Amino acid sequence: MKKQDIKRHLQDYSIHGKRKTTIAHAFASALSVADAYDVEKIDIALRTLGQDPDKDLLCIYCDRPAETWDHIMAIVKDGKFSGYGHQVGNLIPCCKDCNSKKGNRDWKEFLISKRPNERTNPDIINKIESYIKNNTTQFKELIDEEINADIEKFEQIQNMVFDLMKLGDDQAKIIRDKLRAKTKCA
Ligand SMILES: [Zn+2]
Repeated sequence: MKKQDIKRHLQDYSIHGKRKTTIAHAFASALSVADAYDVEKIDIALRTLGQDPDKDLLCIYCDRPAETWDHIMAIVKDGKFSGYGHQVGNLIPCCKDCNSKKGNRDWKEFLISKRPNERTNPDIINKIESYIKNNTTQFKELIDEEINADIEKFEQIQNMVFDLMKLGDDQAKIIRDKLRAKTKCA
């Protein structure tokens, strides 16, 4: 570590600037309809992937032992609910390394980057595509006028939270400025 690294910490914090994405994610997550834990359904789904549901699961991207469930499609897209989320067809066994490296990247793009030379690629891709198709409800297609109005109201509430965070930032700045004025280190 270099001494300059301290600069990153010597900055005034912004509630809205630093936490807007987290809050947007929480709001989108709250709209996602979670599947029930249905062992039979999960067993069938895992067999679609070519995995044995009664053994330790493997990372779909690199075949190492899986440690977590990757959200194939991000819950938030362009700051809004994507329509995907806590569904079996949107969760896939994954190692922690692949999970953090994939981030919000497209699963297919990421898979190919992990297995560039494997002839088995089309097979894995087909398996994942069936897994998604058979275990995902397209909730976006179920949104009618009434639900759309409810979503608009929900987004207004989210924007009110953002506005309150900005107000918090403004008030924090007033306090910091007063405290700074009382010290010599500006
Ligand atoms: Zn992996």
